[in-house]
This record gives sequence, structure tokens and C-alpha cells, in this order.
Amino acid sequence: MKITDIKCAVIASAPVIRITTDEGITGWGQIETPKPYLQPIVLQLKSWIVGQDPVNVERVMRRIRVRGGFKPWGAAVSAIEMALWDIAGKAAGVPVYRLLGGKVRDQVRTYRTLYHHEVDGGVGHTPEDYVKWAEWGKALDGGFGMFKLPTAFHSAMVRDVPDFFYGAVEPESPFPYPHKGTLTEYGFRHLVECVTAAKETLGPAYGLALDAGPGYMPNDALRFAKALEHLHLLWIEDMITGDYVPFVNSDLYRQVTPYTTTPIHTGEQIYLRQNYKQLIETQAVNVIGPDPCDVGGIAELKWIAEHADLHGIAMAPHGTANGIFGLAALIQVCATLPDNLIAFEYPARFEPFWYDITEGFEGFPVKNGLIDVPDRPGMGIELIPERAKPYLTEGDADFFD
Ligand SMILES: [Mg+2]
Repeated sequence: MKITDIKCAVIASAPVIRITTDEGITGWGQIETPKPYLQPIVLQLKSWIVGQDPVNVERVMRRIRVRGGFKPWGAAVSAIEMALWDIAGKAAGVPVYRLLGGKVRDQVRTYRTLYHHEVDGGVGHTPEDYVKWAEWGKALDGGFGMFKLPTAFHSAMVRDVPDFFYGAVEPESPFPYPHKGTLTEYGFRHLVECVTAAKETLGPAYGLALDAGPGYMPNDALRFAKALEHLHLLWIEDMITGDYVPFVNSDLYRQVTPYTTTPIHTGEQIYLRQNYKQLIETQAVNVIGPDPCDVGGIAELKWIAEHADLHGIAMAPHGTANGIFGLAALIQVCATLPDNLIAFEYPARFEPFWYDITEGFEGFPVKNGLIDVPDRPGMGIELIPERAKPYLTEGDADFFD
């Protein structure tokens, strides 16, 4: 079999990838929803993969893997990897999990990141708001048993709470990540109060993780993790480095992780297994969160999970904006991961119309926080051309040709 073409259409701001072959098998991949600007980055990889046999996934990946980087620059390579596995599965007539070594579970656990703007028309950063946040989560469809709370430097708390930290607030920044610095005593106490309100409202039957940075200084990160030990959190994510940070700094995490019982998590922005090596081998964190749509694909994620398991590190793969194709990929790979898997992040940020323009999911697939692993060939999801066409922009009108 040979790859004949690769196309990329932006549907509702999400780049969707279509790889075609001379045997009529099509592979699908998707890039995170807020990254429409990566369309040309996908298309510049065309000359490296057309003419190659897509079933030899690794052989194709060796040609393009060097052309990616930390988030967002590894997304194009990652989406192509997933489309290749889709083709390989369809060619063999088996689900992708069979090609990754077989499934070790029939259902995969997923957790839900709940954003403040989703709650009751939007809530802020007071203990009362965090109580509402927790109540809203418990009432959500899907029976999620685990939630992630964006807070501190990973939220508008930086701007909404005066004197939260000793640093300059950027009023017009697109998201709050540019902020970094030492917390004030007031900011620290306010933050602990808010998180405590959320966890006490959830109660012990629910797991709570925090997405809290990047932006902490290591001593504050340790003080914060220690102050929350009694809350039995699932993890605190990305306090020091994280989302869109183009480096790891695992030595700084080593100043925190060994000295607290609160699990420390990072890794959603990291590209390739090599960039996880030091983080894993020095046990700088307790939990890692590679995203299949950024790390280099699902085989890359599987390799990292096995390496992490050898070192006593748990897995909570990232996926909040991976869309419906990203969801399918997360299910396939998570079905094959070792027992260090906690749960993957449910890609909640896609519109309901995606169920109408695809086949594979019979609507929202989460029950009791679990998803059944499907047995359809490939990734288990197909775009339906006649239903998807109305969602194409003028420039992408030839996507299905
Ligand atoms: Mg995160």
C-alpha cells in the first residue's frame, strides 16, 4: 500500500487530517481544537510521506519525527502518526489496540476538567465559587468520579484576586500563563481555602486534581503541596513548568516531589520519549500526562507509559481539546497501558455536531466515568463526507476529493 495524499481541513477551529492510500483506505487524525494555525505545518510534511507504505508506521515516522517540537509544534507529526495507525488497523481488519500489543482492559477510566466558565454561566475564584464548581461537577452527565480544577497560575485567579503574588499582572494576555512569581501570604491562604472548599464539597467519593501552573517557585510549590496533604488530592499539575513551556526543568521538580505526599504531575507539553527521560529516571514527579496529540502519537505515549511504570510513576494522559478523533485515539492507547494508568483527560471541548458528522460513537460515551473500548477496525471512528461538508470552509472545499 502507498500513501497518495494528505489533506488538512479546519472544522470549527479543529484541524482534521485525512491520509489517503492507493488501496482506498483512509486514515483520520486530529489536532487540538484551538490550533487552526497548524494547517500549513501539516501540509509541509506531505512530501515526506507520500509514496510511503502507511502500514509500516515506524518507518514513516522516522522520516518526519525530527520535524516536530514541544507543544504546539509536535501536533502535526502526532496527528499523522494516529492517522497511520488508523490505516494500519483498517488494513489488518483489527482495532488499533491489537497492533499495540492488545488491550489489558475492556473499559478505560476518564476524568473531567471542569472550567470555571462552564459553571452556572461562569464563576470566579472565591471559596463560594469553588463550592459551586464542585456541585456542578457532581451533577454532570457521565458520572465522572474524578475532576480537575484549573486554579492559581492556571486560571484567572492571578488577575481576579488582588495581591495574589509578587509579580506584574498582564491585563490583556490571552491566557494567564505568562505570570510567574512568589505567592503572597494572603494569596497562598486564599488559594488553600478555595481548594479546600472544592474538595470538601466533592467529598471522599470523588478524586480531585489541580491544574495550578506554570508559575510557581519551587519553595511555594512544596509549601502548597504540603498544605494540601490531608485533602488526598489525585495530583497537582504543572506547578513549575507545563502547558506551552518549551523545556522541562526536572531538577526543579526534584526540589518538591520527594518531600510531600501530594502527588506531583507534569508533561502535557513535552514532545517525544527522549524529553521524558530525565523526568522519569530521576523520579522528579509522581504522575505524567503526555498528550497523544502533542507527544508524537500513541505509540510514543505507550512507550513512555511503560518506561514510567518501571520507575513507579503513574499515567494521567492529557486530552482536554483533542476532539472526537483524539478521544478515539486516547481510548485505543489507554486500553493497552500498564497498571500505572489512573485515567485520561476527557476531551470535553468539542461541540455535539461532531457526533452527527462522524460514525463510531453513539453519542456521549461516558458512563460512571468509564468508556467501553470499541472493537471497530482502526481507531473506530469515521468522518461522514456528506454530513461533514457543510462544516468545511471555502478554502477546504476539496477535503474529500
Ligand atoms: Mg494541564
